Amino acid sequence: MDAEKPPIKRKDILKRIEQAKNRLGKDLIILAHFYQHDDIVRFADFVGDSLQLAEQASKQRTAPYIVFCGVSFMAEMARILCSPEQEVFHPEPLARCPLADMTGSEQAEAAWTELKKINKRILPVVYVNSNANLKAFCGRNEGTVCTSANAKQVFEYVFSKGASVFFFPDENLGRNTSHSLGITDHETFLWNPEFGATGVSPDLLKEAKVFLWKGYCYVHTKFLPSDIKQKRKKYDGIKLIVHPECLPEAVALSDFVGSTIFIKNTVEKSEPGSKWAIGTELNFVNRIKKQNPDKFIIPLKKSACSEMEKVASQKLLFVLEGLTEGKLYDRVTVEDGIVEDARTALKRMLEIV
Ligand code: SF4
Repeated sequence: MDAEKPPIKRKDILKRIEQAKNRLGKDLIILAHFYQHDDIVRFADFVGDSLQLAEQASKQRTAPYIVFCGVSFMAEMARILCSPEQEVFHPEPLARCPLADMTGSEQAEAAWTELKKINKRILPVVYVNSNANLKAFCGRNEGTVCTSANAKQVFEYVFSKGASVFFFPDENLGRNTSHSLGITDHETFLWNPEFGATGVSPDLLKEAKVFLWKGYCYVHTKFLPSDIKQKRKKYDGIKLIVHPECLPEAVALSDFVGSTIFIKNTVEKSEPGSKWAIGTELNFVNRIKKQNPDKFIIPLKKSACSEMEKVASQKLLFVLEGLTEGKLYDRVTVEDGIVEDARTALKRMLEIV
């Protein structure tokens, strides 16, 4: 966005977005992640978690313009799944997921070279919160992608092929998924990209069912066991529900663990009057609270994703008004070679689940 432009009043921004959206009509689809703030979500044609938005992106075949409000890996994913004739835009290219940046493609390639020396079958699985080159790496190596909603099914699929999982970049999702399948920490191996397999006993590597990567989401690892204990003490009968990117110690003390959509559905279907403390991103928790006035809902702790918050409504306005004038601002591009391989990995996931 042009830094020289003066800020516009919120009500004017919202009015002008509405007008630009009306002018663009069926030529435009806006996709927004659940963690976006309300001034973005109100204009979205679809709001969802990563899996739902990936599916929506792959279904949008007619609108020439897709505007994706989320972090950069999500906009890249829409670019990968949409047709080449469509244009995808990300109103804030600087909104990046720090977790996604915790595994570089060279690091993954180096780890893979070492893992292939172990005499066992291993398949790479990358969390959807990853950059396109890592999805492409999985596509090239018989691997796939998973989301927090389907990680268990994807791990089971890999085991059904007689293989172990090489999972990156989120250690906690990998560990929590492993635990849900009865795999203990002794049966996992935490891959440290700095040291690789130097000094590690070959037997330990051979026995591992899951290889994890030392990455984490700073929003979800803020929820501590002490926060859970404090909420239980303060609110009689309160239920705790957390996201699987949370620390395993926090998951172990909660009543429920699941993806964003699981959290939404579980709270919505609960009895009127029920009490919930939710351990996930704050914008999302606040929206569930507003949508369920018959329940008592609090955040387990106020933990917002500052990257998601970078997608300001004025930036959305800038992209939309540009489109009405035929100008393509903040267009998302992904190299052709990466698109093909990443699409292979994503399609494998959509076939598994
Ligand atoms: S909430 Fe965590 S995983 Fe999601 S975009 Fe923000 S930093 Fe990344």
